[in-house]
Amino acid sequence: MIHYIGIIIAVLVGVPLLIYGVRRHRRRVWIAQHQPTPPVAVPVRTAPVSAVGTMDFTGKVAIVTGGGTGLGRCVSLSLARRGAKVVLASRNPEHLDAVAAEIKALGGEAMTYPLDVRDPAKVEEMVSKVVERFGRIDVLVNNAAGNFAIPAEKLTPNGWNAVIGIVLNGTFYCSSAVGRQMIAQGGGSIVNIVANYASSGAPGVIHSGAAKAGVLNLTRSLAVEWGRHNIRVNAFAPGAMVTASASKNLGYDTPEIQEKIRRAIPLSRLTGAEEMAEYVVFLASDQAAYITGDLMTADAGLGLPRGLMDLHSS
Ligand code: NAP
Repeated sequence: MIHYIGIIIAVLVGVPLLIYGVRRHRRRVWIAQHQPTPPVAVPVRTAPVSAVGTMDFTGKVAIVTGGGTGLGRCVSLSLARRGAKVVLASRNPEHLDAVAAEIKALGGEAMTYPLDVRDPAKVEEMVSKVVERFGRIDVLVNNAAGNFAIPAEKLTPNGWNAVIGIVLNGTFYCSSAVGRQMIAQGGGSIVNIVANYASSGAPGVIHSGAAKAGVLNLTRSLAVEWGRHNIRVNAFAPGAMVTASASKNLGYDTPEIQEKIRRAIPLSRLTGAEEMAEYVVFLASDQAAYITGDLMTADAGLGLPRGLMDLHSS
């Protein structure tokens, strides 16, 4: 009898103790599984202090397509003033020689390379000649372009292909040839010149709008693909910039058109290539070391929707 009572007491005490133990163990396992993950060390790389704020290009090599006129000329001169060796590339050697002479007069170093960016073999050849002479390429500014105002229904396949060929294909040919060199050397910076209508549509210049939209997309794609190679790829959209080319092809030098554009600009002024060039140089520089895949727009608000402004302004 006593024997049976002992077994019953053992069961009555032992089973709850066993259940308690199992539950406690499960609770411990649950808590362990749901603990916040310990923080993972994130690599932090800061630009060297000496580079921040200086936009110094001493010892760097930059290729500027369309570097002989307008914005390309001002970018080339600014890069040269900041110490870069500048390669000027476009079709007309006279444009290139004139800017090369200006750079030499500043005490800088320039190389001219006449080419049509629509010719991928010539682009490859330029890249190997530049590397042969300077050993590396740190900066590429894809600035070469063509544009003319025309209603969509009058635009011919030739006109369409010419602009797409220079802007979209040319940017791709130069980026891929230079990009391979930048990958091999461990980094670089590419700035693609687009326009504020690259995202919004470009009535009146649909060929340029489609080409610039393609370049903007390519900019963002390459920024992601080549980030791991330490290559930054950004786009810059200048505003209404009075250059010889914009005057000839878009009528920017006529007072009536200038006044119409001025009225559409919230900051009420057009701009020039010298002012715009500094933004391009900033994006290309180490000062923009943490910027990639970005579209920087400097158009004084021209591309913003105007809402009811025109209805109420005098
Ligand atoms: P630009 O003086 O006509 O510059 C274009 C350059 O591209 C010229 O130096 C030209 O040189 C070169 N080029 C043209 N076709 C070429 C080809 N097939 N191969 C190689 N180079 C070629 O015009 P810009 O006003 O300074 O414009 C510069 C950039 O800003 C362009 O990308 C333009 O689309 C953009 N943008 C301008 C404005 C504006 O208001 N001006 C507004 C938005 C965006 P060669 O004749 O020697 O080939």
